[in-house]
Amino acid sequence: MTGPVFRFAPSPNGELHLGHAYSALLNARLAGETDGRLLLRIEDIDTTRCTPEFEQGIYRDLDWLGLEWERPVRRQSDHFDDYAEVLERLVDEDLAYPSFLSRGEARAIIAEAEATGQEWPRDPDGTPVFPNVERHLSASERRERIDAGEPFAWRLDTQAALARISSPLGWREDGAGPDGETGVVPARPELWGDVVIARKEMPTSYHLSVVVDDALQGVTHVVRGRDLFFATALQRLLQELLGLPAPIYLHHDLVLGDDGRKLSKSRGDTALVSLRAAGLTPRDIARMVGL
Ligand code: GLU
Repeated sequence: MTGPVFRFAPSPNGELHLGHAYSALLNARLAGETDGRLLLRIEDIDTTRCTPEFEQGIYRDLDWLGLEWERPVRRQSDHFDDYAEVLERLVDEDLAYPSFLSRGEARAIIAEAEATGQEWPRDPDGTPVFPNVERHLSASERRERIDAGEPFAWRLDTQAALARISSPLGWREDGAGPDGETGVVPARPELWGDVVIARKEMPTSYHLSVVVDDALQGVTHVVRGRDLFFATALQRLLQELLGLPAPIYLHHDLVLGDDGRKLSKSRGDTALVSLRAAGLTPRDIARMVGL
């Protein structure tokens, strides 16, 4: 029997803040209490926003907090081939299609529908669901447009994907969703519409790489902020399609700023590097996040 495997998976696109400290410390605490392992994963597929300097900052801040993690660390940008292979499977199985529609064209379709009084569906983040009008383009049109160099994204055909799944989709939630959802939570990936799972110039997306890596690394417990609660439905769908095991999820409270709003990497005031410079200690940080 192997013990539980936890992971902390930050993106090096800014400085870590108090919210990250909470997530990392909670993962470490749970791993410690259960004789589990703690992995660190660097989620840097967005090579335009992620930098080696921010990555070094992650190691520095976590080290300062007194955390220990297993090495080597998995850095997603070193593994694009793994994701490309999985994407190819989804494309071959007709579960993903190239979508050429620009944001502007999508907005126009939505505006036109709304002008006729139709209520356009919104995803759990409140964004209008992307029109799925290109689900059924012919194979030859797709090929021609790809060969002509048109920009496109690979979108998951959520309807086709759900039709492949035999048992009801859900997950075990040891934390809670925004409305207190806990225990066995039903997954409704269709609320997101046909999400982007890869792009022309990048064979993956956050959702795809996260499920591939959680499985490859044998992660049994995903402990992360509540802002990713609804994303879990999509990740569960991808796991089922790809035959990957379902981890247990624990979505924790978000650390809010003094203004009651979610912290972000662009706000310097709660960055760990600034708090350290202001003379705070790792104990102070743990206390501030309630651990
Ligand atoms: N890389 C994601 C982030 O920094 C977290 C992914 C996850 O925990 O699943 O927000």
